[in-house]
Amino acid sequence: MLDANLWRRILGVDRATVIESVEEDEETDALVVRVRPRRPTKLRCGRCGVRSPGYDRGEGRRRWRCLDLGSVMTFLEADSPRVNCL
Ligand SMILES: [Zn+2]
Repeated sequence: MLDANLWRRILGVDRATVIESVEEDEETDALVVRVRPRRPTKLRCGRCGVRSPGYDRGEGRRRWRCLDLGSVMTFLEADSPRVNCL
């Protein structure tokens, strides 16, 4: 795997994001980058950013399309827990 800082620059994610792995999805020929937030940023409301108690796991793992690498479709994949915003 390339250096994590280089992947961060290529993918446009900041240091609040940990890149766990970069793999090819053989079904779709896409590149899938598994990410997670660093601990202090966990469980924040996606709308207002306030730290909130957990509600449930949402729909589990989700993928978000990001800038492709050349002709290769590229996705960020992460857990998507929901919070109970106050
Ligand atoms: Zn909120």
